[in-house]
Amino acid sequence: MNAGPAEAAIRAAVPDDVQRLIEALRDGGHAAYVVGGSLRDVLLGRIPADWDLTTDARPERILELVPDAVYENRFGTVAVRRGPEAHDVHEITTFRSDHEYADFRRPHRVEFGDAIEVDLVRRDFTVNAIAWGGRPGEPLALVDPHAGREDVARRILRAVGDPATRFNEDALRMIRAVRLAATLEFTIEPTTLAAIRDGAGLVRHLSGERIAAELEKLLAASRPSVGLRLLESTGLLRGISPDLADQRGIAQAKIPGDDLWDHTCRTVDAAPADRPVIRLAALLHDIGKPATAADGHFHGHEAVGARLTEELLHRLRVPRATTERVVHLIRNHMFTYESTWGDAAIRRFIAKVLPPAIDELFALREADNLGSGVTLDANELTELRRRVAGQLRAKVALDRSGLAVDGRDLIDELGLEPGPALGAILDRLTEEVIADPVLNDRPTLLLLAQATLTEGD
Ligand code: ATP
Ligand code: MG
Repeated sequence: MNAGPAEAAIRAAVPDDVQRLIEALRDGGHAAYVVGGSLRDVLLGRIPADWDLTTDARPERILELVPDAVYENRFGTVAVRRGPEAHDVHEITTFRSDHEYADFRRPHRVEFGDAIEVDLVRRDFTVNAIAWGGRPGEPLALVDPHAGREDVARRILRAVGDPATRFNEDALRMIRAVRLAATLEFTIEPTTLAAIRDGAGLVRHLSGERIAAELEKLLAASRPSVGLRLLESTGLLRGISPDLADQRGIAQAKIPGDDLWDHTCRTVDAAPADRPVIRLAALLHDIGKPATAADGHFHGHEAVGARLTEELLHRLRVPRATTERVVHLIRNHMFTYESTWGDAAIRRFIAKVLPPAIDELFALREADNLGSGVTLDANELTELRRRVAGQLRAKVALDRSGLAVDGRDLIDELGLEPGPALGAILDRLTEEVIADPVLNDRPTLLLLAQATLTEGD
């Protein structure tokens, strides 16, 4: 690749407001560049997720020169918001070098620098260590001391400097390599890959949030299995989830030659890329199988899997609401259906799973079916979906809130006291109404409640 066309492509791709930021900093007497993943994406012809800038201006000075900039973190990163979306935030960091990585995580001290080269050398991969910009008064140009453009062209991830040293400084870089390989469809250069195999054990020092952020991006790839298989084959997976790593080698009678880990990878690929919860549930749906493999039937693996998922997602600091959705899916993912089911059974299924999880559970089952080598709608899934939709359309009562009476009515009409006994009666009425929606009117339910009371005498 020669410099001319690449520079023209960059100039055309960098949005005007980003170019204005560069010029504002340069007009203030500072060097300023677009840098990192955004530039890599431009060279690949992809739309960058966000724009990162770097400058020799110190954080306070950036705030002076860019009126709507605000501090983003204690390392002096400054953010400029240009619109409501996540990608409307541009980050500006001062050139820096990192020092004293004592714990395989983060630098203990960052030192601001005056040259772009100092900043590029601390970056993880050559393709992420390219800059475009310049010092004040100079023409804008590419700065590529690590031949990142060649690696972009050959679609290779190569550590900047000695890979083992760089992974010892920050073990997250190994997971980033795998994540970037999957999302960008790159290969990992052999010495970099060998250093990941050697250093894989270091990931246990990483914080859960940092791992989760990379895992989330990996799962959004069009084929996450490429990255998942790399996590497994390099040994990184064991440091993230030993239970998932244990899936390798466990026989799975679904697709000849596949083991349980192969099935997991296929299921994740088959889940919709734009539904992160389904992708995560697909990854974890059989996490309980290795622990329950002894009897050859994985008996109770969905309950064990729900518990292991809860523990893992807690460790990864995944938000509570997401964790609950995923755990619920895993606990319920073994549902069965037969055409002989009556409508009451359909309603009990809905009441157990609860909308909106039902649609998610079906999406997970479709992926699981495809991951098992059968068709998307195997086991009459389409018919179950249709019947569930029919019941939901009929707006039948599925829980206490749908009953034609409430606790207050039972207290007023039947002289009951608030308490667990009252709750038990409401649950009983709910069951009756799910079995037969015709019963759901006030006089009938009061009579039924009364009958329940005399039963108890
Ligand atoms: P994405 O397209 O997903 O945003 P990215 O490469 O831009 O990928 P970011 O997390 O946004 O990833 O990081 C921005 C840049 O910061 C990277 O391109 C790289 O230059 C640098 N970087 C990020 N994390 C590290 C790290 N752990 N070690 C060294 N450099 C890093
Ligand atoms: Mg980025």
